[in-house]
This record gives sequence, structure tokens and C-alpha cells, in this order.
Amino acid sequence: MAEINGQTAIYGIIGNPIGHTLSPMIHNGISEALKINAVYVPFAVNDDLSCVVNGLYSLGVKGINVTVPYKRGIIDKLCGADSMALKIGAVNTLKLTPDGYYGYNTDILGLDRELEDEGIGLKGRDVIILGAGGAARAAAFLCASKSPASITMINRTPEKAQAIMDDVTAYAQENGIYLPGSAADIITIEEAGRLQGNGYIVFQCTNVGLAPKDNECVIDDMRFYDKVSTGVDLIYRPAKTMFMKHVETAGGAAYNGLKMLIYQAVCAYEIWHDIKVPREVIPKIEKMLNDSLKEG
Ligand code: NAP
Repeated sequence: MAEINGQTAIYGIIGNPIGHTLSPMIHNGISEALKINAVYVPFAVNDDLSCVVNGLYSLGVKGINVTVPYKRGIIDKLCGADSMALKIGAVNTLKLTPDGYYGYNTDILGLDRELEDEGIGLKGRDVIILGAGGAARAAAFLCASKSPASITMINRTPEKAQAIMDDVTAYAQENGIYLPGSAADIITIEEAGRLQGNGYIVFQCTNVGLAPKDNECVIDDMRFYDKVSTGVDLIYRPAKTMFMKHVETAGGAAYNGLKMLIYQAVCAYEIWHDIKVPREVIPKIEKMLNDSLKEG
């Protein structure tokens, strides 16, 4: 890391727990590559978010990432937020302004860039989202914005999936995006094996399969995977989840969430520093993260 001096700008991440975060490695890696005088540190905080935000503001911390469990609760502590972040109901990036912190959701931007990087287009495709938590919500809005042929949500608790699909359908209508009549299907995990159709692009947005429970998968019925052409697991630890293995066994292409993680950080970096991070920096960051994940 470059030398810290009187001009060093401070950035960081708040959450609880925070010890596992890879974000400092990404942000400090970018600053080092671009020779920008900035440092990024983790802050384990408590639930008193007003106090946290006031403290960060008083100290002049220029940018903050927000992780579990504060992405929703932080919103009413801000001076404003980007319209997509408000629709998703989650903010993971704060930028210091004279009036307070302004919020963004770079998870959706990060996932978008991962898809672009991997050449995965959603227009006219049948899309499935597994899960109905915060990440699934961002994925659902992203998918809707790309005019897919259909969106199906599969979740343990169908009411949560319904709530997301209601908001996504309203968003699509407001923005003149045509989602065909059958677009907003909600099915249960047990029904997944009996799904009709083929060539689905599936986003795995549950926690199931996250290390150390590497052998778990939200859907075990292999009839489901026969209908999947592309699987994107938002999990990146382990690098190859059981979901990804099932997709590949059935002949599909599978990707993990590491690029999403990198790109959500890159998008935050670009918002904070008002620059474009050069493409050639990305493989260096990816290698650093992969090495670190291998070391455990
Ligand atoms: P969340 O809000 O807690 O949602 C978790 C989802 O998983 C819920 O839909 C939940 O179902 C489902 N789930 C949990 N345990 C389950 C089980 N045993 N069986 C079936 N379903 C189960 O979490 P999140 O913030 O959306 O994060 C989800 C995953 O995405 C995490 O693994 C996280 O690491 C990953 N993520 C990655 C990135 C990235 O940059 N790559 C960014 C954000 C998140 P119910 O609704 O029924 O409770």
C-alpha cells in the first residue's frame, strides 16, 4: 500500500460481521494500481446507524460501502439516493456530499458488468431467479431492465418472491418495458423439477452452498438443470458451488459471483473518484482475490 500521509483520503465499509470482507483488497488494490492517495478500511459497526453515519461524516470519510445487515436500514440516514437504489430498497455505496451521504446500489451495476464481461445477454431470454432476498431483488430489477422473455422466481418463501415481482412488474410498467403476461411466475423449490421450457438463464441468489456448506444446493432435482443453459451463482466462496457443478454436469455454462463482487467495487470506486477504472486493472484484482480465496 502507498504511504499514508496528511492528504490520504479515507474510504471504508460498514457491516456486522465484517471480518470476512474482500473489499479492502479490491479498493486498495485499485488505488495502488492507479497511484491514488486513498485508503479503504473495514468498520465493524453496531445498529445505531444515525450515530455511525454522523461519525463518518464528521470525520470526512469520503465514501462508504454498506454490507449485511444494513443495506436497507441505511437509506433513511442519507441525504438522498439514486432512483434505482430506492426501487431495489437497498444501498451499498455512499458518497460524501456537502449535505450528507448520497446512496447508490452498485450490486446491480456489478452484476450487469459481470454479464457484459461474460457475454450473457438477457434480452428475449427466459430467466429464473432463485431466492428472494436483497441480492435476488437487485437481480430481478436488472433482469427486468433487459427485456427478457420471462422471469420466474423460485423461493422457499413464495410471498417474498411475490413482493419482489410486484415491485418489478410496476417498475417495468412505469418504464415501458414489456414483460409478457406469464412473465411474473412464482414457483416453489419442490416444483422446480417440473418446470416447462428450456434454455433458462438462472441466477442463484440464495445463501445455500456458501462455504463451509459447499455441498449444499437449493435445488437438487437434476431435471431442473437439464433446462438450464447458463447458471450464474452470486456466491464466490467456494469458487465452484454445488449449483454450478449441477449446471455443468447437465451441459450448461456456470459462473460464480466473483466478477460481480469486483465490479460492484469498481463501480463504487468510479462514483467516488469520478474516474473510469482502466480495464487492464481488473485481471490483476481478480488474480489477487483468487489467490487470497485459495489460501482460505
Ligand atoms: P438474504 O437477503 O439473506 O436472502 C437469502 C435468500 O436465501 C432468501 O431468499 C432465503 O429464502 C434463501 N435461503 C436461505 N437459506 C435457505 C435454505 N436453507 N433453503 C432455501 N432457501 C434459503 O441474502 P442476500 O443479501 O440476498 O445474499 C444472498 C447471497 O448472494 C449470499 O450468498 C451473498 O454472499 C451473495 N451476494 C453476492 C454478491 C456479490 O457481489 N457476488 C452481492 C450480494 C450478495 P427465504 O426468503 O425463504 O428466507
